[in-house]
Amino acid sequence: ALDKDQMQGLRGIREFLKVRTSYDVLPLSFRLVVLDNDLLIKKSLNILIQNGIVSAPLWDSRNSTFAGLLTSTDYINVIQYYCQFPDEIAQVDQFRLSSLRDIERAIGVVPLETLSVHPMRPLYEACRRMLKTRARRIPLVDVDDETGREMVVSVITQYRILKFIAVNNEKHTMLLKKPVREIGLGTYSNLATATMTSSVLEAIHLMVKHNISAVPIVDEEYKVLNVFEAVDVIPCIKGGAYDELTSSVGDALSKRAEDFAGIYTCNEDDRLDAIFDTIRKSRVHRLIVVDDDNRLRGIISLSDILKYVLLFGEEDDSIRAASA
Ligand code: ADP
Repeated sequence: ALDKDQMQGLRGIREFLKVRTSYDVLPLSFRLVVLDNDLLIKKSLNILIQNGIVSAPLWDSRNSTFAGLLTSTDYINVIQYYCQFPDEIAQVDQFRLSSLRDIERAIGVVPLETLSVHPMRPLYEACRRMLKTRARRIPLVDVDDETGREMVVSVITQYRILKFIAVNNEKHTMLLKKPVREIGLGTYSNLATATMTSSVLEAIHLMVKHNISAVPIVDEEYKVLNVFEAVDVIPCIKGGAYDELTSSVGDALSKRAEDFAGIYTCNEDDRLDAIFDTIRKSRVHRLIVVDDDNRLRGIISLSDILKYVLLFGEEDDSIRAASA
């Protein structure tokens, strides 16, 4: 019965995502900060910090087109550039947002494709594209009927989508009663971790190497003390303080904004319905899985949850549909 309920819950959520659009996820009123591609990277940092945001769509005002999404990954790329070409710090200071693609090329990272979705397409589609491209957020781009120009409506994130499910589809999330351990949700081996005395640069290199956006900070007993996130680099390099990246993670974490959302933990015996409750109530970016002594066991990212909700048992379903 547990299996049946779980599958029924998952199918219910998938149907729900197919009949809703990305537009439905947006709040009634919201603010959108769009940055001009000609802005100095240095200045963009201040704007993000002042507005309490960690990403923004970019606008190419010469061609009146959407020019991609600025995220913490871009700043990490700038840091890598600085590490590879330390003599060019004066130049780094003069870089504009439009130079980000050149920076990617110089450090040899594969540029992320500038993906976007139309706000009126089914939400399910946005989810599938997020999983396929590993994008954690996608801009919603529409075309203005009169001018034929592209318009950035908003940006949707994995968190917003999962919260939308949690708030509007409790009927189905409450059926997800299997413990995290049983469904193998998250990552439990080869975890990338750091300590309070690790340098910020070490933490950044771990994120780049593993292609992740957060590193749990543990003590000598592997107890979880905090989490260093990709967005934590933003205050670190404010004002062009690249030489301070050798300071400790502990110092960097003390620079977090007052309204920091906090770290969320769970246990391997917790069930997905309880995780959806947490998502409904709080701004969760990931869950750190700990044992009863607060020792690190694993990490459940929002993409792990989205992937499970969308794809678990999918093949079985299509086989059953084909033979029915
Ligand atoms: P995040 O944005 O939180 O880094 P991702 O969705 O990019 O999460 O994570 C990609 C995969 O890497 C997920 O399966 C997640 O469980 C795993 N992961 C996340 N953080 C770590 C870490 N510190 N060590 C090892 N694996 C991780």
